[in-house]
Amino acid sequence: MEIHATRGDITQLSVDAVVNAANSSLLGGGGVDGAIHRAAGPGLLEECRGLGGCDTGDAKATGGHDLAARWVIHTVGPVWHGGNRGEAALLASCYRRSLEVADEIGARSVAFPAISTGVYGYPRQEAARVAVETIRSTPTSVSEVHLVAFDAQTHSLYKELAGGSSPSAPT
Ligand code: ADP
Repeated sequence: MEIHATRGDITQLSVDAVVNAANSSLLGGGGVDGAIHRAAGPGLLEECRGLGGCDTGDAKATGGHDLAARWVIHTVGPVWHGGNRGEAALLASCYRRSLEVADEIGARSVAFPAISTGVYGYPRQEAARVAVETIRSTPTSVSEVHLVAFDAQTHSLYKELAGGSSPSAPT
């Protein structure tokens, strides 16, 4: 599997599936969730209404509607409460369950946002480590993963952890 550190707007990527950092209602929200719903159009919300929500750490697929991506995989990240409430296991579960759902629908290229690192408050560095370690250790038919960073700090963390950064100059 190739893991790419990608910077930009996840709604613009031509991949089989984009992962949405949703809330448990699956009825839309701010951040990347709002951006995905705006870009996908009202049909996405319509489809989500039929899913009956989603537990934290779980994932469910819908069509991509007006997105270039054929599917959206909605996953619900944990709210950060300081790290002692199972946050790391729940965040790992988001990445693992999203890859399992990708296998079920036959998606081979998948783009992930930095789940939980926005309003849910998960520290960026720890979240990036969980993302890369879980993706690497999950058996899957997905052959191409994009870790999509909206900000420069997350992008450099992904480059460091997933490779793809240019080697640093010798000191
Ligand atoms: P959460 O509630 O899981 O914390 P947020 O949407 O608030 O979700 O933030 C998750 C991450 O998604 C943050 O790092 C944020 O910068 C990033 N993000 C926001 N909009 C986009 C977008 N259009 N494409 C990619 N990433 C985005």
